[in-house]
Amino acid sequence: MLKYCVKCVLPHTKPHLSINEEGVCIACQNYTERRLIDWESRRKKFDQIVDRYRQNGAHWDCIVPVSGGKDSTYQVHKVLELGLNPLCVTATTCHLSINPASRPIWFFVGPFTS
Ligand SMILES: [Zn+2]
Repeated sequence: MLKYCVKCVLPHTKPHLSINEEGVCIACQNYTERRLIDWESRRKKFDQIVDRYRQNGAHWDCIVPVSGGKDSTYQVHKVLELGLNPLCVTATTCHLSINPASRPIWFFVGPFTS
């Protein structure tokens, strides 16, 4: 018998989804717990990490695996907003490879220099 989350009605058959005793799925539990996170503190820590790896244009600052989907494209957009120079690599579900074929994504998302 299918079980559904009482909040979002996702079925328990969705991969990697668990439903607790109250009938709430892990995605809804995580969403609720976001209120408990100190986002300002996390942002400061994140900015410190970004500053540590920023190369000021001499090299790539970070690697972003890009599948071409909205999530990875958004990540590229965000690192460009931070002024980073990302090395975007083609990402599939199981493998990562540096692939010149993915360069149109780099140009589509924002400026790219090597
Ligand atoms: Zn749910």
